[in-house]
Amino acid sequence: MQYDQEVDWLVAGSGAAGMTGAIVAHQLGGRVLVVEKEPRYGGTTCKSGGVAWLPGNHRQAELGIDDSAEEGWRYLQALIGDSVSPPRLRAFATRAGDMLDFMMRHSRVEFTPLPEYMDYYPTQPGYKSGGRSMDPGAFSLRELGPEAERIRNDYDSLLRCNITVPEGRKLGDMGLAAMWLGVRLYARYWLDLSARLRGKPDQRVTLGAGLVARLRRSLMDRDIPLWLNAPLGELLLEDGRVTGAVVVREGVEQRIRARRGVLLAMGGFSHNAAMRQAFQQAPIGADWTAAAPGATGDGIRMGQSLGAALGFMRSAWWSPTYRMPDGRVLALIAGKAYPGSIMVNRKGLRFTNEAQPYEDVVKDQYASEARGEGAIPCYLVFDARYRQQYPVGHIKPGKMVGDGQLPKALFSSGLLTRAESLDELAAALDIDAAGLKATVERFNRHAREGRDPDYGRGDSEHDRYYADPKVQPNPCLGPLDTAPYYALRCEAGDLDTKGGLLCDEHGRVLKESGEAIPGLYSAGNTSAAVMGDTYPGAGATIGSAMTFAYLAALHALNDEESANE
Ligand SMILES: Cc1cc2nc3c(=O)[nH]c(=O)nc-3n(C[C@H](O)[C@H](O)[C@H](O)COP(=O)(O)OP(=O)(O)OC[C@H]3O[C@@H](n4cnc5c(N)ncnc54)[C@H](O)[C@@H]3O)c2cc1C
Repeated sequence: MQYDQEVDWLVAGSGAAGMTGAIVAHQLGGRVLVVEKEPRYGGTTCKSGGVAWLPGNHRQAELGIDDSAEEGWRYLQALIGDSVSPPRLRAFATRAGDMLDFMMRHSRVEFTPLPEYMDYYPTQPGYKSGGRSMDPGAFSLRELGPEAERIRNDYDSLLRCNITVPEGRKLGDMGLAAMWLGVRLYARYWLDLSARLRGKPDQRVTLGAGLVARLRRSLMDRDIPLWLNAPLGELLLEDGRVTGAVVVREGVEQRIRARRGVLLAMGGFSHNAAMRQAFQQAPIGADWTAAAPGATGDGIRMGQSLGAALGFMRSAWWSPTYRMPDGRVLALIAGKAYPGSIMVNRKGLRFTNEAQPYEDVVKDQYASEARGEGAIPCYLVFDARYRQQYPVGHIKPGKMVGDGQLPKALFSSGLLTRAESLDELAAALDIDAAGLKATVERFNRHAREGRDPDYGRGDSEHDRYYADPKVQPNPCLGPLDTAPYYALRCEAGDLDTKGGLLCDEHGRVLKESGEAIPGLYSAGNTSAAVMGDTYPGAGATIGSAMTFAYLAALHALNDEESANE
């Protein structure tokens, strides 16, 4: 077969998985090329919180956080069981720490444990009340030179200046320390005159954009080429082995030979409506996802065409989302746990513990929908007290931005509804008014006592993470009793899909027979999630994406027999 170019390791996708796989392979001596189909790099990773869930790592040990790979493994096993191949699950638990150690030694990546960010399921063995979820820190876009213009950098922040997870946590408590931090952050932002005068966004990037900037800089340090507007279009095969791929660059097809293998790290299929309808439960579509637009399932379809087995295609990293009038779809991660709010379906009934992990809220939305209660969309209903004090999604609290100052389109689009009474609110939403009133009365009665006998909201340590610690005895509960009342329309959304190519513990893509397809690897949301149908803790998707990209590169570059000489 004729090729236009030859490398050792061809990576498709410039998110957390792709860039990690590229750096590892390069460190092991490989010639690497990364191709990205979008005009900007970073994928969904760039829109994310950038948090990685990594049990048993050296950074925890440095900060005196007690954890081990074995405990991580026990927790994952209890949650996921045999729905994922045990060697693969074990590989994640025991190698996540190695990946972090490798990346911190050989790249600009840095992660710091978040001691207060607990795993999502406190009753499971091996659970930790903090420190496995890690923050990627801040990074200056200036380090990227002209490449700074090509980062996705479209994290939808409430604030003008970017903040890390610990900074966000500190600001959230709204005390004196928070005010002082706010002053410092804004002072730094406004004093960056060269960026302000040129109308540029904050040059200090954090969260997912911070992680992507660190990864991109690490590629630059190594002169690893990253082609943009360059979709990987077709895998090339010789004698049953993947030997490379066709990449379209500037409209020209190039056949790239990949001596050690190809890593498919192209995200999931959340933006592919046909695939979602074929594989996932109705109602479903591509309109409610918060993932980046490149997640169209290309890698999954390519693997499938070579006979790859698929797993968890019905699942997604579910999260309630809401659609802004300008079309942006944003994840409702914080906001649903604050006192003075509930989520209701068309019957005006609660159907979930609103404060539980976002993945489980959407699963309950689907369960309520299946009972004929109409929960897609559902509504986050809250009262004036809540509105005044708390941000709801990306809408700032009333004490900062009053209703009159909010864009009118928030109301006219049906995203946000305001009414003087619960009856009026129900009528405006076309939901059952008697149901809503009875639900609020019952909720209020118990909320005043700090209890939620129906769904146990606030019982778990996790529920209280995004709540208001000033409200006692239960920081998640408060009555809805002050007019006007509001409702935010919420969709059964996701952060991207979870289903994809079934892989082994080395990230090799498997056929139905369990045999690996030689030369073909996958990581991140193109691969079937090692987390199965669960979301063990914040950062489980990026943590596993980076770990399997690392393991795939190790296997491909170290395994002499698999080399395609
Ligand atoms: C608002 C939000 C917050 C989140 N917060 C977190 C968090 O804090 N922690 C966490 O773990 N997860 C979080 N997630 C989820 C997480 O961002 C993703 O699951 C993860 O980043 C996926 O990484 P990836 O490398 O698999 O894919 P991506 O980052 O999506 O990268 C894939 C890339 O492949 C490209 N591509 C697609 N097709 C082709 C092709 N044919 N050729 C070449 N390139 C192609 C895409 O354009 C894309 O750039 C969040 C998501 C959202 C939306």
